[in-house]
Amino acid sequence: MTDDGERGARREPGPSTRAVHGGERWPKADDALVEPVALTATYTFADTAALVDFKEGRTSREEYGRYGNPTVAALERKVSALEGAEDTAAFGSGMAAIGTTLLALLKSGGHVVLLADGYRRTRQLVAGTLGRYGVEHTLVEDPRAIADAIGPSTRVVVVECPSNPYLRVVDLPGIAARARAARARLVVDVTFATPVNLRALGHGADLVVHSATKYLAGHNDVLAGTVSGSAPLVSLVRELRGVLGGVLDPHAAFLVLRGLKTLALRVERQNATALALALALERHPRVRRVWYPALESHPDHDDARKLLSGAGGVVTFEIDGDVAATSAFVDRLRIPRIAPSLGGVESLVEQPALMSYYELDSATRESIGMKDCLVRFSAGVEDTEDVVGDVLHALGG
Ligand code: PLP
Repeated sequence: MTDDGERGARREPGPSTRAVHGGERWPKADDALVEPVALTATYTFADTAALVDFKEGRTSREEYGRYGNPTVAALERKVSALEGAEDTAAFGSGMAAIGTTLLALLKSGGHVVLLADGYRRTRQLVAGTLGRYGVEHTLVEDPRAIADAIGPSTRVVVVECPSNPYLRVVDLPGIAARARAARARLVVDVTFATPVNLRALGHGADLVVHSATKYLAGHNDVLAGTVSGSAPLVSLVRELRGVLGGVLDPHAAFLVLRGLKTLALRVERQNATALALALALERHPRVRRVWYPALESHPDHDDARKLLSGAGGVVTFEIDGDVAATSAFVDRLRIPRIAPSLGGVESLVEQPALMSYYELDSATRESIGMKDCLVRFSAGVEDTEDVVGDVLHALGG
């Protein structure tokens, strides 16, 4: 990559180049190629003058592990490069990232607009935990109704894009404009999209959050979360991280950094497999309905076409049968394991009714849209033909 005018203007590096080289600093300690793991809980000062220089802002360095770590900082720079963000703060899990972000942006009396389709724990955090501290909220079923739910006391709008499990896609620029007019912050959980499929900050999001446990780390071996956005907003979140303590461990940061280098390659395969699967499922007589944003039948297909460069690795669908028939299908699958996560190299499958919503009865689940016959399939990086063939075989055809 040269800046040579004669050979044309330098293009912005693509997602795979950013995943490999983005945020890297040179030289590294001992001239290492790969970021070393800095295993230290605290950092020393040569003398009191060095301490005072740091406190006076004359030097920039680490002080204590809860406030920062070089390996964690390396991950934060790479995620910033991928998201096109000024800054990123990394956490010990996606929920630590979301919880710390919302606590940093809200106070008692503030109102949150939240897309109803989304990760259950995020809804519990807003409606339950934050509700106990005087935060109000409106749960919006239809993505097109989000902008109208923003009122004078709204301080934060929280959406997933695509959402979990129905893969709803929202009109980010439209919602961002309405949020800005109300001086509310738009927080977008882009776990399902990844920066390969969606750069939400470029469409008006104030902050983007990831359960980095999923696609960013990509190997189902580590829990992590990130928050990215403008430097002042991320500073606010990072300061509260230093108080609440949900910081990412340096070992875990190393695993996410390592996983990230193949993010674009993995997501390319996962997009392709999920699309092939969605198309095959839509034609199958034992499947009642398929939810995948690249399909014209998806209610948000138009917004998906405008915003997403790939529709992601998750396909959600309804088996034409009851809870037992759906479980029998799941149990006939040979490639995906039954587990509550997504985005990693191994394909995973779950029946949301029996995983995240097990303790609710069937009628209550149905009333909140969690049908007994619903299946969420997360494509891994296995061969597309093998994954689609396995699903068709389990369906009986
Ligand atoms: N956001 C979404 C969309 C998720 O699916 C999840 C977890 O499943 C989370 C956040 C929470 O992330 P973590 O499990 O890393 O805390």
